[in-house]
Amino acid sequence: QAKLAGKNRYYLFDSEQARNMREHHQSVEHINRALLAKEFTLYYQPKVNMRTGAIIGVEALIRWQHPEQGLLSPNRFLPFIEEHRLAVEVGDWVIDSALQQILNWQQQNIALGISINIAARHLRQVDFAAKLAAHLANYPSIAPNMLELEVLETSALGDLALVSKTLETCRDLGVGISLDDFGTGYSSLTYLKRLPTHTIKVDQSFIRDILEDPEDLAILDGVLSLAKAFGRQVIAEGVETLAHGDTLLRMGCHLAQGYGIARPMPATEVPTWLANWQPPARWLETRQ
Ligand code: C2E
Ligand code: MG
Ligand code: MG
Ligand code: MG
Repeated sequence: QAKLAGKNRYYLFDSEQARNMREHHQSVEHINRALLAKEFTLYYQPKVNMRTGAIIGVEALIRWQHPEQGLLSPNRFLPFIEEHRLAVEVGDWVIDSALQQILNWQQQNIALGISINIAARHLRQVDFAAKLAAHLANYPSIAPNMLELEVLETSALGDLALVSKTLETCRDLGVGISLDDFGTGYSSLTYLKRLPTHTIKVDQSFIRDILEDPEDLAILDGVLSLAKAFGRQVIAEGVETLAHGDTLLRMGCHLAQGYGIARPMPATEVPTWLANWQPPARWLETRQ
């Protein structure tokens, strides 16, 4: 048994551990190969203003089109490369693919902004902002505000100065920034104050039970006042039903994303979804 200094955890180095480590290395290899073989793809999930019906953008969510296992969701492979250099390479692929997609839609007269999820390992690269600027420079017809970064508060853990500086540079480029999964990390007021974010995304775990759980309602109410004081927008994720939307609207939270609006879809399906999107009449009636 080996105790990891400073952590209240014990690791048993046995054959299972050895096997896990082998599998881990194997996964990194596989993921690297998948990147080269262009097996990754981005799905897109709309984000809307429930009060006006406006579509405010789409979030890009990575998928692995695995030749044998079919479509794999990110939690099946991203955790393996979290601490690995490959997280940066996959992240760069995501940035370029999203910009390419914005351009592609632009050419079809569809002006649609994309938000992308940024891994901590990627965001903490000292040249992250410079590389983002270089990516944008490859697409001169794309206004930087068409791109938004979704970052986790925990990305700044232990290096708030570096991460807030990086995000300030990104913000100054004109790129949008949102704080993802808000409420699940430390929800530190210092982070909220120091990280230059435009939007707070309330984690879906607080939205799911909002119809029956008064504590979740109280949390949402608190986040809304906090956001107002800090001059940030709030978007709810995990809006699974129209009833969730009703409650959110009543609370004054207008921006939403979730299966109740649309599931993540391949890029090719987005234009049809946009053309057919009708905000539920009951939401528009809740205008206040
Ligand atoms: P996230 O950024 O918080 O994304 C929201 C997740 O919730 C997505 O899962 C989405 O499909 C799912 N979701 C959306 N609406 C609903 C709903 O109404 N109900 C429920 N139960 N779930 C909903 P997904 O696509 O499996 O992604 C999981 C996580 O993987 C993301 O959480 C994000 O942290 C990470 N991720 C996804 N794509 C990327 C990427 O390109 N780069 C990085 N670094 N991380 C990514
Ligand atoms: Mg996200
Ligand atoms: Mg989230
Ligand atoms: Mg999440």
